Amino acid sequence: MVDKVIPLADLRYASAVPIIPATLNAPTGLLSDRLARPLRDLRISVTDRCNFRCSYCMPKEVFDKRYDFLPQSSLLSFEEITRLARLFVSHGVHKIRLTGGEPLLRKGLDGLIRMLSELRTPEGHAVDLTLTTNGSLLAKKAQALRDAGLQRITVSLDGLDDAIFRRMNDVDFPVADVLEGIAEAARVGLGPIKVNMVVKRGTNDSEILPMAAHFRNTPVILRFIEYMDVGATNGWRMDEVLPSAEVIARINAVHPLEALDANDRGETAQRWRYRDGAGEIGVISSVTQAFCRDCNRARLSTEGKLFLCLFANQGHDLRTLLRGDCDDEQIAGAIGLIWNGRDDRYSELRSGLAAGPESGARRVEMHYIGG
Ligand code: SAM
Ligand code: SF4
Ligand code: SF4
Repeated sequence: MVDKVIPLADLRYASAVPIIPATLNAPTGLLSDRLARPLRDLRISVTDRCNFRCSYCMPKEVFDKRYDFLPQSSLLSFEEITRLARLFVSHGVHKIRLTGGEPLLRKGLDGLIRMLSELRTPEGHAVDLTLTTNGSLLAKKAQALRDAGLQRITVSLDGLDDAIFRRMNDVDFPVADVLEGIAEAARVGLGPIKVNMVVKRGTNDSEILPMAAHFRNTPVILRFIEYMDVGATNGWRMDEVLPSAEVIARINAVHPLEALDANDRGETAQRWRYRDGAGEIGVISSVTQAFCRDCNRARLSTEGKLFLCLFANQGHDLRTLLRGDCDDEQIAGAIGLIWNGRDDRYSELRSGLAAGPESGARRVEMHYIGG
């Protein structure tokens, strides 16, 4: 008899096979977790690979030639992703964000977008479909993504100074190519475009004002993200976090700002606008101002594990259900049960924790579940 071989990569993060509830109720779109938070937002990682090596996400020393990325057979197929996405939508998800790794590296991604763009919420609306990318392949792919049904796009860009940017992506990628990608995305109608800048004190905080000046008087919404302690490889230190309040103060001193109301409950960014009418910016203060109370986001990893928090160390292995003989009702029931049991609120608890949520357990990496 030949033993079943389980690829090593499948064991990298702890996961449990979900329980199928004994009684299966049809999804109502009104799922709620233990802190009364609904399920609205699903982030799907379509690859764990990336052509950048941003030090805060995939430091070169760890993610080198010897790193064991997931084998092709581990990845969810587009059919599997769409099947799960449909069940999540029946539970109340109305926004899907594709991410990674670098999502534009996944072959045939426009085919997946086409399939997801056909999903409808229980009220009959199309799902809000968006994608986060490092922009390196955007100039080439924007038109195809738009044609497939992608509505909007978020591009990560950590500075305008070419030397600083090349150092941050750590593969010597030029800033001009990302700017060209942003321009092309705008041209094909993937707006309003959001640009995300992770701010690391002492590394790229000198780029805050140039970035603000560059995107003022354009429809692009620039958002500053506090450097987070995700994963276990980026050597995070609190003194490298530049609090959002300081970002706002620096910009306000040059271009006066006023606060705006949130568009949506559960929105991650606090919105601000220039008093002179030059546009909007945002700050995402995941370290200094936790926003767990309204967190309605679930994350599906490249290999089909459901994570309930960016800082979780355990996933729920939906792929085993997909590749077993479970029907849609059973999988939807399992997802419902998982969400009902959710009580994650890591950012709110962070200051009281010495070494992450459970010392000794390995926290999931950002490139594996996406941002
Ligand atoms: N590769 C794509 C990109 O960079 O846009 C998508 C995946 S990336 C993991 C998603 C987002 O997470 C990016 O905006 C990135 O800047 C952000 N991110 C990664 N590591 C981070 C960290 N340690 N702190 C804050 N944001 C981080
Ligand atoms: Fe790649 Fe995005 Fe992570 Fe940078 S932040 S290494 S571009 S996945
Ligand atoms: Fe949501 Fe977890 Fe982030 Fe809190 S720490 S906002 S629960 S993902």
